[in-house]
Amino acid sequence: MTIFGADKKFEKFEDVTPELLKKENVKLLLCDLDNTLRLHSEKEPAEELAKWIKACKKAGVIIVIISNNGRKKMMKKFCEPIEVDCFWWAKKPMRKKLNEAMEKYNIPPENTVMLGDKWSTDILAAKFAKIRSYKVEHRKKIV
Ligand SMILES: [Mg+2]
Repeated sequence: MTIFGADKKFEKFEDVTPELLKKENVKLLLCDLDNTLRLHSEKEPAEELAKWIKACKKAGVIIVIISNNGRKKMMKKFCEPIEVDCFWWAKKPMRKKLNEAMEKYNIPPENTVMLGDKWSTDILAAKFAKIRSYKVEHRKKIV
């Protein structure tokens, strides 16, 4: 774990492959939603996202969305078809929801990574929770 910045940087979530997660011993991948897994305006999960989540799950990685977005109904509707657990109104960089997710799935910090696009929320929350962080660019378009 580095003190400053993310442990790894990628252009987009698809670059975080199941093979890489396996190699890095990641069992729980906490994901930011807006501008990380989707564009801010997207109401339904993109095909690319559904595919990626399926592949990660198949590799044994648990995916949990941790978002500062407080629109519970919209979040539920988005997460249901891709069968992903989600924590909304997370108030990142506070680490509370990250810890809750690790407890819920009983995965230790050393096997957990936070994936997000924003240093001041996602990456910092990972630092506070003492877990690794992967940073992606702000999502500009899907596919
Ligand atoms: Mg974001």
